[in-house]
Amino acid sequence: MSPSARVLSGVFLEFEGQPVSASGLFWGEFAPCGCLCGAMTVDRGNGDVLLTADQARLDMNAGIKALAERNAEDGFVFRLMSQEQYRATPFGCEHEPKWGVVEIKAPEGHAWATTDRWHSGRRTRRRHIVPEAAVDAWADVPPALCGAVRSRHAASWSTDRSHTSDTVTCRKCEAAVAA
Ligand SMILES: [Zn+2]
Ligand SMILES: [Zn+2]
Repeated sequence: MSPSARVLSGVFLEFEGQPVSASGLFWGEFAPCGCLCGAMTVDRGNGDVLLTADQARLDMNAGIKALAERNAEDGFVFRLMSQEQYRATPFGCEHEPKWGVVEIKAPEGHAWATTDRWHSGRRTRRRHIVPEAAVDAWADVPPALCGAVRSRHAASWSTDRSHTSDTVTCRKCEAAVAA
């Protein structure tokens, strides 16, 4: 969309006790460690105005409920920011673990994989830890650590980022690694 096609809403939000035009405000996404990890304009410029933190969270997570719920569960928070605050806040994180979120690694000989492979068909929005022998396999597929098996009509397990990136980790698989 060209800048001239932006339609601003004329909506005002209360910010620090004052009415401020939505077009001058940002939603900042703060990681559990306190670092700024994302930001978006409150007024989307297409008639949509993200009035609440929950709306901003869903929008930031591509409208996918499972991702937004996990984002909240992990402790990410959305806060209104002025343009000045946004410019003054560095983006990025030096913490260990990054963004304050522990990433459970698949054990040796295993990989995080999903059967959410195609745009059509039922999406589970989950990735599981499966033995490497299960990846891209169609016959004699061993189950995931949590016991999940590929359903008869599902695609084979995929480790491709383009398939796994809009899924959340299976908590049972994570618990199986920790056990
Ligand atoms: Zn950080
Ligand atoms: Zn699992």
